[in-house]
Amino acid sequence: AKEMGRNNFQIYNPNMEKGTEERLSLESHLRNALGKDELLLYFQPQMALADNRVVGVEALIRWRHAERGMISPGQFIPLAEENGLILPIGAWAIDKACEVNMNWRRAGLPPITVAVNLSGRQFMHQNVVKVIEEALQRTGLPPEFLEVEITESLLMRNVDEAIAILKQLREKGITIAIDDFGTGYSSLAYLTKFPVDILKIDGSFIFKILEDEGSLTIVSAIIAMAQKLGLKVIAEGVEDPAQLHVLRELGCDVVQGYLLCRPAPPDDLHSLLQPNYFA
Ligand code: C2E
Ligand code: CA
Ligand code: CA
Ligand code: CA
Repeated sequence: AKEMGRNNFQIYNPNMEKGTEERLSLESHLRNALGKDELLLYFQPQMALADNRVVGVEALIRWRHAERGMISPGQFIPLAEENGLILPIGAWAIDKACEVNMNWRRAGLPPITVAVNLSGRQFMHQNVVKVIEEALQRTGLPPEFLEVEITESLLMRNVDEAIAILKQLREKGITIAIDDFGTGYSSLAYLTKFPVDILKIDGSFIFKILEDEGSLTIVSAIIAMAQKLGLKVIAEGVEDPAQLHVLRELGCDVVQGYLLCRPAPPDDLHSLLQPNYFA
């Protein structure tokens, strides 16, 4: 949303009377967006600090609206979540992410993981395991190269059901990351109950890590705890070499952010995905 400038408009504000019409119009457009190929997946590289190799990418959805230009997911995912369109949109995103990853492999690039964001309705839907299985089967991507990112607050909404779904995914060999980690407050006691592999530290802590002692303390504690629990840590929102330096000192495993690369269409990432691009 930050990059959108004058195209930035508010759609998700139920308190605003004049927003309703806008919202309905956006909703009907969204219904057609998939069929019109207006939805795209961008990808943002993730680099391991141990050897500066790109080990994965996160898939981030974009909507290229015919009249309004690029609309960020923060503006339409909540809407799609509410009206159920997240189910077809989310299934498309999972399938597309696997397909793009397979295409990179076929092009001879080093194998990497692809991470897909799952929203609440999508994750709690009984179908999610099947949707993921079908995508893997159709594209031929081995399950160990697919990660799912689920927010901390979503997991806390329905702990037992979340655990049951995570177990099924993990049995298939899929990697599980807790997204926006640190923002959900309640998770520490539950952390060991969830079958997870990765903690993804929210960008809000990384942005302030150089100026704010509290953020530094939190990031440092999350990394130390993850190491004790045998979990991998990814820091998102790394924009500055000094932030990267601190994360390296703290023993963070993987970084992601504008410093390395902004989210980009798959064809733009070929050179960056070559071996030794950052190494
Ligand atoms: P998220 O999963 O927390 O993703 C991180 C966001 O930070 C992304 O915004 C990314 O483009 C942005 N970002 C990455 N590096 C930097 C950086 O160095 N500095 C700053 N300031 N920002 C950075 P984006 O792409 O607008 O996505 C927003 C949110 O929309 C995501 O937050 C995720 O929750 C959701 N989303 C995106 N794609 C999908 C999708 O396919 N399905 C679902 N359900 N949600 C999605
Ligand atoms: Ca994410
Ligand atoms: Ca985040
Ligand atoms: Ca998020």
